[in-house]
Parts: sequence; C-alpha cells; structure tokens
Amino acid sequence: MITTIGFDADDTLWHNEPIFEAAHDRYRALLARWHDAATIDRRLFTTEMGNLELYGYGIKAHALSCIETAIELSGGDICAAEIREIIASAKEMLAHPVELLAGAGEAVGQLAGSFQLLLITKGDLRDQERKLAKSGLAHHFAHIEIVAEKNAETYARVLRRLQIPPAHFLMVGNSLKSDILPALGLGAWAVLIPYHLLWQGEQAAAPLPSAVAGRFSQLPTLRELPALVARLNAVPGTTTASEDSRQKSEEHGRPGCSS
Ligand SMILES: [Mg+2]
Repeated sequence: MITTIGFDADDTLWHNEPIFEAAHDRYRALLARWHDAATIDRRLFTTEMGNLELYGYGIKAHALSCIETAIELSGGDICAAEIREIIASAKEMLAHPVELLAGAGEAVGQLAGSFQLLLITKGDLRDQERKLAKSGLAHHFAHIEIVAEKNAETYARVLRRLQIPPAHFLMVGNSLKSDILPALGLGAWAVLIPYHLLWQGEQAAAPLPSAVAGRFSQLPTLRELPALVARLNAVPGTTTASEDSRQKSEEHGRPGCSS
C-alpha cells in the first residue's frame, strides 16, 4: 500500500526550465560575436558537467560555468561589463517569481489529506528554500529534503531515515534520471509527469516494463495523480507489496497506468 508520496519540485510543482532557457538566449546573444549558438550550448554543457562534482546544481553553479565558458570561448577577450551581464542574469533568475504548474496546488492539497508527503529536490539550498517558501505549498509536506544528488543512494538514505519501506513509497517527478529510475530501482513506485523542456543533463531512457512490474506510470499532469494513487492502492497485492501479484496486475492491465 502506498502511504508516502515524494514530489520533485522543479518542473514538477513549479516552472523552472523556461527560466534557464530565457537565460540561455541572453547568453547566446552575449557571445554571438565569437561563436554560433550550437557551439556555445555544447561548450557550456561540457563546462557544467565538468563542474558538477565541485559546484553541484543550481543557478549559482550555472553562472560560474557561464563565466568560465565565456572566458574560454572569447579567448579571454570578454570584458568586465559582459561578465557583469552574466551575473545580472543569474540574479534575475534567482529573483524570478515562483509559478506553480497547473493543478499542482490542488493535487498536493488533496493528497496531503490522506498521505505523508515529502519534497525531494536537488539544487542550491538557499534557492530551493526560497522557491518553496514562495510556492505556498510548504505546509503540505511532512519532510523537505534538499539534496546534492538524486540517485538510488539518496532515496535509500531518505527512506531509511524516515522508516518508510520502499514498497510503500511513490515518487513523482519530471525526470526519469533523477526521480523515476532511482525510486524504481529500490522497489518503490514512480509516476513520470513529463515537462515540455528537459535539461540535457537529465536525459535518460525509460525503464523496461518487464523490469518494473507495473510500478511505473506516466501521467499528463498532476491533476490525474490523486485518482491514479487511489487506483494503485485499490489493486490487490499493493497492500502486501507482493511482487507476484503486482506482476499479475500488470499483465491484466491497469487503466491510466502506462508502464
Ligand atoms: Mg524536476
């Protein structure tokens, strides 16, 4: 039986990637006199991935990588005024209003009445705390986890600490790599709600249906989540978390659940 639902935040509860896309447009324009957009994008991504271990995720890490890439791509010719533009762009991103996805507030509010809700997000601690405070959703969550990386070890650590068996946990998010695959790998449930934009660093292949035994679903929006969770909990076998009975449920198909 699912008793606890974990929510990703960026591009699951509130819009995030469009803020980065707008900043990328400004960045490409700034460096246009040295390189074309494709080269700028490729080199920036390489810099970001190279810095991930040192800086982690978030806007401040992104800004440092933008500055480093700009110095490289301009052959050291970028001037202080142009560096200042990159910094101003980052500050603008950090001050951006938090805009909830359609139906997010309603779904979270509804589910909070029957389930323990967790928020599990990665990125810059201060920025994520700011966004959560501005979202007006914080009071619905029993626990807030702002982590450095969302992998199987992170989810295992959080669930162990909160004493939540993976079979009773469902994770919801827009990233297969960060939200879905690690949760499924632990034996938890997962619901993918794709967002129309996905950062290159979050790309991953969908799980094989045979490997996840009906524990993976996909929905168009958060609005459909309360009904899906009710259906999953109504299926015989979810109460005992028996893999065999889940397998049978999957074989017979489950409405609204694309695995
Ligand atoms: Mg996300």
